[in-house]
Amino acid sequence: MSVPVYLDYAATTPVDPRVAEVMSHYLTRDGIFANPASRSHMLGWQAEQAVESARRQVADLITADPREIVWTSGATEADNLALTGFMRANRARGRHLVTSLVEHKAVVDTALALEKEGFEVTWLTPDRDGRISPAQLREAMRDDTVLVSLMAVNNELGVIHDLAALAEVSHAFGASFHVDAAQAVGRIPLDVGRMGIDLMSLSGHKAYGPKGVGALYVRRSPELRLEALIHGGGHERGMRSGTLPTHQIAGMGEAFALAAAEGEADQTRITALRDRLLEGLGDLGGIHYNTAVDAAVPNILNLAFEGVEGESLLMALRDIALSTGSACNSASVEPSYVLKGIGVPRPLALASLRFSFGRFTSETDIDRTLDALRHALNGLRRRAV
Ligand SMILES: *Cc1c(COP(=O)(O)O)cnc(C)c1O
Repeated sequence: MSVPVYLDYAATTPVDPRVAEVMSHYLTRDGIFANPASRSHMLGWQAEQAVESARRQVADLITADPREIVWTSGATEADNLALTGFMRANRARGRHLVTSLVEHKAVVDTALALEKEGFEVTWLTPDRDGRISPAQLREAMRDDTVLVSLMAVNNELGVIHDLAALAEVSHAFGASFHVDAAQAVGRIPLDVGRMGIDLMSLSGHKAYGPKGVGALYVRRSPELRLEALIHGGGHERGMRSGTLPTHQIAGMGEAFALAAAEGEADQTRITALRDRLLEGLGDLGGIHYNTAVDAAVPNILNLAFEGVEGESLLMALRDIALSTGSACNSASVEPSYVLKGIGVPRPLALASLRFSFGRFTSETDIDRTLDALRHALNGLRRRAV
């Protein structure tokens, strides 16, 4: 048995060894293990310093002020805090939220819960590429719209949104603009000031940091009002209580510093790998592009294979770790709601695979994938006729 080729970086990335090394300094008795909220001794101050230095590393990547970063348990919690915390705090100004049908479940399910709570949600349908246009957003805006939530990079398709233009429309109607940027860190440049982003969700483990840590960027000027969802010691300026996990936070900080330093070079290398795969697939035939390659990050490629069934294809590709949809709905055999959302016909959606590449993907990985795909498709298609 050979080691599988890992092409599921959009589900999670391995922790970069340099990140793991940093994290190891904040766990054991000979390291900085104290509670960063302990103000009465040196060990606590050292832990606080580690947390604050990571806060700056995360802020720097998105050109924010460190005081605008709120630590969370991941992008899921950041999305929950952004949507629920904001809508509840701004109830008196309006009850209307605009989002799209192809957001991550962390946004979709939170918006559904808000509907049950009495808020109104407009669900925008994206174009064939998976994008919402500024003109389409303008149509949906109302006098009582207080928040717009749209993702930077779609986790299933890789398609990139024009964030600055969407922010401009939101602001023209007096609404704030939230962006789920879990898939964007290290993949596209992010500048909250220049792009006009008011709230932004971030995750550690999509960018070679650890799982179980994330952050919400919350604009300070003009200051946004958020109602806390988790109550306790009043950590994170009252927005998110709970003892800060120093090792996770230091790891996310280091991962984001590496993304700032190496993200662009990573993406250049990954573009060449993606193109190598596309070239190799060229002569196979019967392949549909769910990803609009020119409008997407190079590290995510979603393809549909005509004349085969997705589950059989996945079985035949046992040695390649990849997803048929996003990891969050791979337990069911229903076609992905994202592919449905962009109008991919059911049989093709069921025969779609998401290839996602990353920092440690090699040419050998791509060639092994091509061999396996050729073999699998030939076998399955021969059986089908
Ligand atoms: C992975 C992901 C999330 C969830 O992030 P966690 O840190 O795992 O909670 C949210 N949004 C998008 C777009 C993602 O890809």
